[in-house]
Amino acid sequence: MYNFKSLICYNCKSVILNLPESEVSKLDGLTFQCECCGNKNVLSQFTFSKSTDIGDPYINILSADSLAL
Ligand SMILES: [Zn+2]
Repeated sequence: MYNFKSLICYNCKSVILNLPESEVSKLDGLTFQCECCGNKNVLSQFTFSKSTDIGDPYINILSADSLAL
């Protein structure tokens, strides 16, 4: 049984991802850009927090569309 986890943008509170916890744990530490407000969210401990790496050109920014689910 999957326990789904909704990941919500820290800024606008819209749901960015809705995945089983097992999948979320694989994505820990990655950065996702909110499609609604454009803010960058870092996935940490199953929640999104504000990215502290804004301006880093080497950061790996993902969107929900880039994940082949
Ligand atoms: Zn947002």
